[in-house]
Amino acid sequence: MNPSHYRHTKIIFTIGPATNSPEMLARMLSAGVDVCRLNMAHADHEWTRQAIENVRSACKVVGRKVALMMDVKGPEIRTGPLDEPFQLERDETFDFLLDRDQEPVSEGIRGVRINYPSLKEDVKVGDTILVDSGLLRMRVLEVTDERVRCSVRIGGELGSRRHINLPGVHVRLPALTDKDRGDIDVGIENGIDFFALSFVRSPDDLDILRRYIETRGSKAHIIAKIEDQSAISNLEDIIKASDGLMVARGDLGIEIPFETLPVVQRRAVYACQRMGKPAIVATHMLESMITNPLPTRAEITDISNAVYEQADCVMLSGETTVGKYPVECVDVMNRIIFSVEAQAERKNNDSLPLKTPKALLVKSAMLLSDELTNSGIVVFTRSGFLARVLSALRPRKSPIYAFTDDEDVFQNLLIYWGIEPFFMNFDEEPEVTIQNAFSRLKSRGWVETRDNMVVVSNVLAGSKVIDSIQLRTIS
Ligand code: PGA
Ligand code: MN
Repeated sequence: MNPSHYRHTKIIFTIGPATNSPEMLARMLSAGVDVCRLNMAHADHEWTRQAIENVRSACKVVGRKVALMMDVKGPEIRTGPLDEPFQLERDETFDFLLDRDQEPVSEGIRGVRINYPSLKEDVKVGDTILVDSGLLRMRVLEVTDERVRCSVRIGGELGSRRHINLPGVHVRLPALTDKDRGDIDVGIENGIDFFALSFVRSPDDLDILRRYIETRGSKAHIIAKIEDQSAISNLEDIIKASDGLMVARGDLGIEIPFETLPVVQRRAVYACQRMGKPAIVATHMLESMITNPLPTRAEITDISNAVYEQADCVMLSGETTVGKYPVECVDVMNRIIFSVEAQAERKNNDSLPLKTPKALLVKSAMLLSDELTNSGIVVFTRSGFLARVLSALRPRKSPIYAFTDDEDVFQNLLIYWGIEPFFMNFDEEPEVTIQNAFSRLKSRGWVETRDNMVVVSNVLAGSKVIDSIQLRTIS
């Protein structure tokens, strides 16, 4: 057994100007990223197509595949474009303009247009409006048909297209905007593996997205980004309706009191484990490395915390879109993950309800492998189901080598904790399939002679195909 390159926690990076070149992508892939995320807040269609092509060709060059995740913006309120950023002063009166044709200065009061005319129905005098990740804070003074007039409580620079948060307010934007639909079409056309939906408020939002992609023939999985209070209130139902969750700490930390963020993160990650869905911990994991070559001690501890919680993925955003040290960020994550995983005491996940005999079968395989030394689990799966159950059970020490003959399944398995997926055609003769899998594992250095493999597969019993668990030794 050669566990030196086996890591349970997966790494997602966001592609941007700092990483979009073939050379940088090759370095990111070699450093070990598992998923590439495209953030549609900042990408047009031409850029998106090109980025996907760049990632695919880097995969070929490096000989390592990554999954593609398109992050769909959903109901986001943004300020309009500005020719030049300007400074907002404390106590200044400032207008959010609801009509597209309004002048940005009237009665000597400055203002900015926003993409959401219904703001006037959602806020009332005394409410707080936050702009640009909460850096600018306004209090509502007056609401009319044309504008929401505010007093600037905390000033600062206002740039183009800044994101607006309305803590505690149910924004009346639809779960999917026209722009989102256009973006998703491009994603489907280009074989995206995951769609992540921003600001999911209820399971219905996910159903809308699922219907949209399924009627267009996409088998992509859907990740719910929890970013505000309504998502937390509907957490379990949202997890149920999704294929995975992202704890989107950037917006969440603005929308809810920040001191509750660690509590919510843990609750969300554990809820996912109980329900057998993958969880992603996102945003500000290595924020200081946007400009510095080394992480802060607090960032090291934050990543280790996600690893101890057994989140499926940790994620990089600004660090790899515009940061100066994207490859170093992946190296830092790798080092922390390896160090913590090697020491962490793990328990199997006993909270997962196992409904089918097949699910119980893989649990037995896991228990057997966890008792053996130099062992691992080999599972053959067409739908990915058995591999996902194994991952959710959180083996104490056994690697999960999942072989599938379906390319979509292979790509989707890349985000799951502890799964090392392999794409391989299955032979009609199950024994040949098993031997092919062993050869693959051996030639890639994953296993060595005399290692114990617990194999979950079909076998032929006379003319019947039956499920089996076999204990095999690598020869
Ligand atoms: P974003 O989502 O980067 O798309 O805003 C993540 C977050 O809010 O944490
Ligand atoms: Mn967000």
